[in-house]
Amino acid sequence: MQDYISQLNDAQKEPVLQKEGPMIVIAGAGSGKTRVLTLRIAYLMQQGVDPFNILSLTFTNKAAREMKKRIGDIVGASQAKNLWMGTFHSVFARLLRVEADKLGYPSNFTIYDSQDSQRLTSAIIKEMGLDKDVYKYKQIFSRISSLKNSLITVRAYYNDPELREADEMARRPRFGEIYKEYVERCFKAGAMDFDDLLLKTNELLNRFPDVLAKYQNRFQYILVDEYQDTNHSQYLIVKALSDKFQNICVVGDDAQSIYAFRGANINNILNFQRDYDDVKAYRLEQNYRSTKNIVEAANSIIEHNKTKLDKVVWTANDDGPKIIVHRLMSDAEEGRYVASSIFENKMQHQLGNDQFAILYRTNAQSRAMEDALRKKDIPYRIYGGLSFYQRKEVKDVLSYLRLIVNPKDEEALKRVINYPARGIGATTMDRLIVAAKQYDRSIFEVIENIDRVEIQINSSTKTKLKNFVTMIKSFQALEETQNVFELTEYVLKKSALITELKKDGTQEGISRIENIEELLNGMRDFVEGQKEVADARGALSEFLEDVALATDLDNDKGDDDRVSLMTIHLSKGLEFPYLYIVGMEEDLFPSGMAMNTREDLEEERRLFYVALTRAEHQAYLTYTLSRYRWGKLVDAEPSRFITEIDDQYLEYTTPPDNYRYKPLLDSDLWDEPDKSKLRQSKPKNGTPPSVNQPNPEQIRKLRKMKPVSSTSQSSKPAGFEGKLKPGMTVEHARFGRGTVVNLEGIGGEKKAEINFQVGGLKKLLLRFAKLDVV
Ligand code: ATP
Ligand code: MG
Repeated sequence: MQDYISQLNDAQKEPVLQKEGPMIVIAGAGSGKTRVLTLRIAYLMQQGVDPFNILSLTFTNKAAREMKKRIGDIVGASQAKNLWMGTFHSVFARLLRVEADKLGYPSNFTIYDSQDSQRLTSAIIKEMGLDKDVYKYKQIFSRISSLKNSLITVRAYYNDPELREADEMARRPRFGEIYKEYVERCFKAGAMDFDDLLLKTNELLNRFPDVLAKYQNRFQYILVDEYQDTNHSQYLIVKALSDKFQNICVVGDDAQSIYAFRGANINNILNFQRDYDDVKAYRLEQNYRSTKNIVEAANSIIEHNKTKLDKVVWTANDDGPKIIVHRLMSDAEEGRYVASSIFENKMQHQLGNDQFAILYRTNAQSRAMEDALRKKDIPYRIYGGLSFYQRKEVKDVLSYLRLIVNPKDEEALKRVINYPARGIGATTMDRLIVAAKQYDRSIFEVIENIDRVEIQINSSTKTKLKNFVTMIKSFQALEETQNVFELTEYVLKKSALITELKKDGTQEGISRIENIEELLNGMRDFVEGQKEVADARGALSEFLEDVALATDLDNDKGDDDRVSLMTIHLSKGLEFPYLYIVGMEEDLFPSGMAMNTREDLEEERRLFYVALTRAEHQAYLTYTLSRYRWGKLVDAEPSRFITEIDDQYLEYTTPPDNYRYKPLLDSDLWDEPDKSKLRQSKPKNGTPPSVNQPNPEQIRKLRKMKPVSSTSQSSKPAGFEGKLKPGMTVEHARFGRGTVVNLEGIGGEKKAEINFQVGGLKKLLLRFAKLDVV
């Protein structure tokens, strides 16, 4: 037996070594589910299973890459390369490319990202002359998306009176027409949106038994990570593909199901045993990730949920430090606290930035964190929000490239036909769209035939349109011989895009050009990487596919030493030694929108469980007493989730007096308390602001906080710094003996310049320096 098997405990070995049959591993966070999946694949390959016959579905492409690497280390990289591995979207996009013609799509179909989809929805609403305040494009698109994920096509929608009634009740009776137009426009543009990648795969497997048989034979072993978050559409794909061999292994944790709002269906996990014959169910109970305090605190949270499977999670790890709960006055102060704490931990424990993560419930909370980290010169990286490829200037370049591959791509065309300006105005575009509808063709085809179609466009504009088409076609010709990097350089020049960008000499303008350079760098890497892949397809279309499905987590090269910032939703499956969960306030976390039903609240609680279980060593929970929300300063109250944690795992580091302003770690504030903030949060009559505690129990717990001086944060007794004088001899834990030469700064920023006998002159921050007076 290979050595890697010994890296598993007995409970983990079982699912790894069971070669055949359906199996499910339900287990709590950090118990090794992902590790089991990874090593199971390695084991299958060592048992002679061809990697081409193994399909593994992960939550991010980054997770897939890491898994592949790990497997490669065991069985050899050249073998691991042949595994089908990735997110549902990326794997089935690849499959659809091969089979697209069966569904009437070109194999070079475009993948519309959510920005494209929303723009198209918005354009349709406008073209139909509907009130955009009633027909809100984001809401409309999200309804389209959930219908698709439930496999409800336009026809099925019209056949279902209840669905139509729901839209009538919601005062958007014409929703069905928008849905229909949206689907037709995507089809005509040779484009699939994210949901189509699953919907069309289902359609393909349903309608074409031979195709189904082909992929059933191909994917003889199927593995799914994070199974609790699969939606109906994904569930059906897995079920169809695994039906023949039934070698299906799914791993998940019902307590971590956090995507119900996107259609994830926890019943997929609960019903698994009904769906297959002789299912083997495995449980893993030992957590290897976190300290006892964290594991047990997380257990005590999830206890509050009624809907859950019985599970045990324990750990043999140390108790570790308690979870720190810290209260602040405002989000700005919260940012400064977190940044200072990271700084302090780094100094005290000699850590890199990549040991830290800050998690929040909503993207908007990142700004205060960013500001504070920047001030402290702590490098960070934000995940989520706009991905690199969605930035305007990058997307403009990509739109040219998309048109080269698929000129029917309407969203790409609309972006660049008049950018840089070529005198093709909005009226012309409107007319082209109408003509495209009349002739049932794409806009590009209408332009190609502009002299033959009936359209009210003057001859000089027609010439401009023709020039545009000629330019795109010249790019297409070049694409056959050039790689994506060379092609893009040419496109940038010829389209005058680069000249346009260079006109703007502002800081933003410069950073746009830098982004384009970054894009080109990425392309160069891609071209290099492609050289090793024997069956690499057309460089450009392959690049575009990677880009369309990339989340910024995927772009993380993992080579920079930065603090990670992300929403809790994105943090699934990850782990960090030091973890800050910020904004632990009612209405924010749990979200104000999740308080109406028990189900919603339980999903928020699972989200908190996911958040806390990302921590390996030390977790911090912070909350503020007031926060700007929707432009207004509102009072905030501590999240009920804090009080749901058993007190023995918590350490409150702010004193019970809500109005004493005594920052412990924050040097910025030490020097000059920001009194304006204090005033702001006090009502005019001078009485202290109410903290709006939800119940007496909560008040009791949240008030049971220790005074500042008794916390473990400060390594020196308070009076120590005052005693130090130039000329004194001191001893440092690491540098040895030395003489104090000079003292500077005050409070938390007080520094001593010390001449060490061995190390020479050094300046030390007294808050951290481990010094003893000799
Ligand atoms: P999550 O539910 O958060 O996705 P998980 O169940 O997938 O967690 P893993 O990520 O596989 O858990 O494992 C958690 C951590 O514990 C990882 O760092 C992993 O390497 C480590 N680990 C898992 N099993 C063992 C083991 N038997 N011995 C030592 N370390 C282990
Ligand atoms: Mg995992």
